[in-house]
Amino acid sequence: MANPKGRFGKSRTRKRRATWKIETPALARCPKCHATKMPHRVCPECGYYDGREVVAVEEEKKKKKEA
Ligand SMILES: [Zn+2]
Repeated sequence: MANPKGRFGKSRTRKRRATWKIETPALARCPKCHATKMPHRVCPECGYYDGREVVAVEEEKKKKKEA
């Protein structure tokens, strides 16, 4: 007796695999330096969160921003 090669055909499998989307990561703007950052996260540019500096940013990075 003839047996099917698989449960689903190649076409069905490939169609399913072709229709996924990349989720865009959530973006928020830093209220201090207006750089894009992740929500509920300390800003990587200025180290601020909730209106105060939480994390000290390296001097080199700060100087680049000011110049
Ligand atoms: Zn910032």
